[in-house]
Amino acid sequence: MHEYSIVQSLLDSCEENAKVNDATKITKVVVKIGVMSGVEPELLQTAFDTFKEETICHEAKFILNIQKVIINCSDCNTKSELEKNEYCCPKCQSTNIEILDGEEMFLMQLEME
Ligand SMILES: [Zn+2]
Repeated sequence: MHEYSIVQSLLDSCEENAKVNDATKITKVVVKIGVMSGVEPELLQTAFDTFKEETICHEAKFILNIQKVIINCSDCNTKSELEKNEYCCPKCQSTNIEILDGEEMFLMQLEME
C-alpha cells in the first residue's frame, strides 16, 4: 500500500532528526498533505499507528494538515485557493495557471525530547 511506504520513510526521517538532535523520543509529528498528493489521510493515520510502535515515534501525536490547492493565474495574476477539482482560475476562468501548493506531502514539524 502506498501509504505504508510513505509512513516508513516518514519514520526514517524522524529517527534521523532525533539522532541529529540527541533526542530520545518524538512527541509530535506534523505533516502537510496536499489534496492532490494522492495520499489518503485516514490510511496514513492507520499506517502511522501500525508502524510507530517499534520506533522513536511510539508516543508521538500525529497531526495531519490538509492543504488545499493554491494556484496563481498567469492571465489575471491572482492567487486563489481552489474549492473544486477544476483546474481553472475562479476569477477569470483561465486555465493558464500555475499550481503553487496542494500537490505534495511533507513533514512540517517535529517535537522531541
Ligand atoms: Zn485568472
